Amino acid sequence: MFTGVFSNSMMWKAQDRDIVSLETIDLREFGQGPRRQVDDTPYGGGDGMLLMVEPLWKAITLAKENDPTAKVLLMTPRGARWKQSMAQEYSEADHGYIFVCGRYEGYDERILTLVDQEVSVGDYVLTGGELPAMTIIDSIVRLLPGVLGGETSAAIESFSDGETLEFPQYTRPEEFNGMRVPDVLLSGNHAKIAEWRSENSLKAE
Ligand code: SAH
Repeated sequence: MFTGVFSNSMMWKAQDRDIVSLETIDLREFGQGPRRQVDDTPYGGGDGMLLMVEPLWKAITLAKENDPTAKVLLMTPRGARWKQSMAQEYSEADHGYIFVCGRYEGYDERILTLVDQEVSVGDYVLTGGELPAMTIIDSIVRLLPGVLGGETSAAIESFSDGETLEFPQYTRPEEFNGMRVPDVLLSGNHAKIAEWRSENSLKAE
């Protein structure tokens, strides 16, 4: 699942420029028995399967051996809701991160003893932690110096001050299907443009 996202666009550029290094570990490598089982039914009953503690433990231990100062993040709807301010903070860290992705009904709770922080991408349930991990990684990587074109492009965008959403933007043509770009943006008057942009930025809820 990670291959497409990690080998495209900014994520690829960031790796190519040695700004970030991304590696995935397949839990199956630590699966048990001939079928490399990684999941089992929950004690106490209930639907679905849980990721077993042992394969997860081994995978996280290997990741920590590879990167001893890395912090372990667990993807879970129960975690702290991911925000732009967290992406900013994480992008300034001088250590790596290990993203633990649950699957099925989740994971054996004992894995939490290896976890530094639980994070969620929102109040909804996904099939696995991969999309949340990729979402979070993307939001961090694009803030690393040298990844985006202009160094300021991340500084003025939505949520960067914690509450404001970016103003509307337009590119060519000046008119499309009768819809015209606001005159002020074509005026070349930078003070007026700044004023218009400020007036047209929305406050996030
Ligand atoms: N039974 C669990 C949901 C399991 S979903 C519950 O009711 O909370 C399977 C896995 O997907 C989770 O273990 C987690 O790793 C990941 N996941 C699902 N939704 C997520 C979200 N909103 N944020 C972060 N991770 C999520």
